[in-house]
Amino acid sequence: MSNRITNFGAGPSALPEEVLIEAGKGLLNFQNTGIGIAEISHRSPEFDKFIREVEENMRTLLQIPHGYKVLFTQGGGTAQFSAVVMNMLAKYRSREGMASDQPIMDYVVTGSWSEKAMKEAKRLGGGTVNVVVNAQTTSVDGKKIFNHIPNHDSYKEKFSQDPALVYYCANETIDGVEFSDDLNSPFSFPFNALPEKAPLVADYSSSFMSRPIPCIERHAVIYAGAQKNIGPAGLTVIIVRDEWANVMDSSIPLYLSYKTLVDSRSLHNTPPVLSIYITGLVLKRMLEVGEQNGKAKEQALGHYAECAYRKASKLYAAIKEGEARGIFKVGGEERLKEFVSGADRRGMKGIKGHRSVGAGIRISLYNAVTEDKVDELIRYMKEFA
Ligand code: PMP
Repeated sequence: MSNRITNFGAGPSALPEEVLIEAGKGLLNFQNTGIGIAEISHRSPEFDKFIREVEENMRTLLQIPHGYKVLFTQGGGTAQFSAVVMNMLAKYRSREGMASDQPIMDYVVTGSWSEKAMKEAKRLGGGTVNVVVNAQTTSVDGKKIFNHIPNHDSYKEKFSQDPALVYYCANETIDGVEFSDDLNSPFSFPFNALPEKAPLVADYSSSFMSRPIPCIERHAVIYAGAQKNIGPAGLTVIIVRDEWANVMDSSIPLYLSYKTLVDSRSLHNTPPVLSIYITGLVLKRMLEVGEQNGKAKEQALGHYAECAYRKASKLYAAIKEGEARGIFKVGGEERLKEFVSGADRRGMKGIKGHRSVGAGIRISLYNAVTEDKVDELIRYMKEFA
């Protein structure tokens, strides 16, 4: 019997136990090479074969169209805040008949992470930042908060005509708001409002591989850290359309350049071998679990989307029920502490809200958090109430 706790943390987050057991074997002996995965050369034929399979499985699961590269790098979402700006501005400058030497970068700000990315673009310079929409509002107690996705009407005539990039964050991990993946919803990303050729950049860090990505083909760059749904920290995945990964100039550090990663097949320098390995095991398992649940490989992600929807619906229903009875509004600091320590005693951890938004509870339901764990949490919530 495992003595592992339930990890509701926002990232790094829970990984499937079966994968961790398998990874333990790989740490001692990677694919019968007699050498552990943390010790083997990233240039060995065995690892090269492995990383190609990781890419293939990711392509299958996400249904990534032809004409896109899948790149593996380090530095997390934070490095990409800078990398996207540098790569996209270089691409803009390389265009013939470039429209402006002060290119505009359009940022859709719906939470703390897109705000951080926008601030980094401002800091780096090389272009002008246009905040298309800023969803920040003031709460009843006077705090500046992000609590909603603006509807489609909010973007009318707000996008620039020829931007170097248009940026958004699909799921704001700190603030708990995300774009709907139902394109008929007014709270989906407003793909139809974009100028036809505007290069779209999306931070998918916290919803990556939990469900299909809508309109992949409309994006120039999609990136995500692995440490939520698919692996340990240390690996960042970039999905980039070919034409946005073929420029290089002296303004881009070699390491942050998409072209460097493309030309070296993600092996310009030593990659995060162990993170790639565990991610590879998670993806393989996702395909298997999908199959066990009657999904073809191409639809395996649908299984995870259904699970995520069920888990979230249950939890929201429990919260709503509590709110209706006035339970989750009363309390304050002391009650909150009591709730967290009670959960802790029951082996449920990682539920405290992000330090930047003050106190509160945050429950993250990544792929490896199983439905029975959500049921357990709901039982505790009711008991506590
Ligand atoms: N974007 C989002 C949506 C995130 O959730 C995070 C991390 N939680 C980041 C960016 C930053 O990622 P990293 O810590 O890997 O740099």
